[in-house]
Amino acid sequence: MSKTTCVIAGGGPAGAVLALLLARAGVEVTLLEKHADFLRDFRGDTIHPSTQEVLDELGLAEEFLALPHRKAYELDMWLDDGRVVEIASLRELKSKFPYIAFVPQWDFLQLIVAAAGRYPGFRLVMEAEVTGVIREGNAVRGVRYRDAEGEHELRATLTVGADGRHSDVRRAAGLVPVEFGAPMDVLWFRLPREHGDSEETFLRVSSGRMMVAINRETYWQLAYVIPKGGYDRLRSRGIETLRASVGELLPFLAGRAAELAFERTSVLQVALNRLRRWHRPGLLLIGDAAHAMSPVFGVGINLAVQDAVAAANLLTGPLLAGEVPESLLRRLQRRRMIPTVVTQLAQRVVQDRLIRPALTGAAPSVRFPVSPAQIPVVRDLARRFIGFGVLPEHVRTPEAPVRVR
Ligand SMILES: Cc1cc2nc3c(=O)[nH]c(=O)nc-3n(C[C@H](O)[C@H](O)[C@H](O)COP(=O)(O)OP(=O)(O)OC[C@H]3O[C@@H](n4cnc5c(N)ncnc54)[C@H](O)[C@@H]3O)c2cc1C
Repeated sequence: MSKTTCVIAGGGPAGAVLALLLARAGVEVTLLEKHADFLRDFRGDTIHPSTQEVLDELGLAEEFLALPHRKAYELDMWLDDGRVVEIASLRELKSKFPYIAFVPQWDFLQLIVAAAGRYPGFRLVMEAEVTGVIREGNAVRGVRYRDAEGEHELRATLTVGADGRHSDVRRAAGLVPVEFGAPMDVLWFRLPREHGDSEETFLRVSSGRMMVAINRETYWQLAYVIPKGGYDRLRSRGIETLRASVGELLPFLAGRAAELAFERTSVLQVALNRLRRWHRPGLLLIGDAAHAMSPVFGVGINLAVQDAVAAANLLTGPLLAGEVPESLLRRLQRRRMIPTVVTQLAQRVVQDRLIRPALTGAAPSVRFPVSPAQIPVVRDLARRFIGFGVLPEHVRTPEAPVRVR
């Protein structure tokens, strides 16, 4: 049986960033990721100013901005009558990065693990699926995982479950989240982009329908919002109905919608939940494993990264000393619970007031007599909330020497 200081299950934004921060500070850390690569299309691509500031603090901003990306300075909503309503503008945000960068998640994760690989304490095991935790009484002392070579046990001072909203670590630890529900699921698909298309990434809202269009240079990545559990009904109506609906929402895509096939779509079931307790002795849960976020505001990645920064700030010293008391894990949960609760509350308001009525067609149409961005207080609050989130975290951990090549 092998041993490390910190074992992290899950190489998503939360796990990868925590692994980087700990390795950078000289902590021995093993990151176990069940997939063979980071290629996961149809996931969040939005890197907000708060995360870019963290990357800057780590000296990675330049490398990050060298990745293929698009910058969105404003978030707009396109309505039936042709009006474009500004939801928020980040231009005036007091930040070096007053925009959301749309970067494919695999590029972001690849950059983070490559940076972590510069430190001697970092070990990444791909195709390593955590199947359980090692328990000693009430305490967790590591994980059991399976890879191409078979079953393994890895003991650790601290075990972190960053394995997303279907967390196996959470289940193994007997922790169950409280569900708040969501009125929608999301059908993702791509359609080609053509010369003359809008350059923007935007939200299209109509009575009974919503769609997010993300400009990925050579193609549109489209998120077609459907009522919760509505995929089977949509499918039973046939592909022509979906093609027609896409063409009605965005007429410039009508011709290209012929390329749409259900086999080339991916359904993502939206969840909004959180744990009451994010820890056990020797165990911490962060990111979606502790609180699955709705795609509203596109802040899930950023909250996951903020959890990682807060965890590293608080736990690096104790990990280097070889012991993490549960009282510290409790303190970390208290710190991160505030942004989680506030953000989820705001997401629930949008889900209930805007998305649910829009999807059921209960509102004859979504009307905005005045753009929310024209009300100064709302505009400033929205800008800060979307840009930085609540209680943004900053890197406070030191940098240890890099690996000698
Ligand atoms: C439809 C949809 C759209 C979204 N859009 C956005 C958006 O635009 N912007 C945004 O910021 N957020 C968005 N989100 C949310 C965002 O994707 C998540 O909040 C974020 O990825 C959470 O990061 P995480 O690291 O906690 O978990 P994840 O990103 O889920 O990463 C978990 C990792 O753990 C691995 N794993 C799982 N089980 C195991 C195991 N047993 N052993 C080892 N590894 C394991 C997985 O393979 C994965 O790599 C969206 C979510 C959904 C559902």
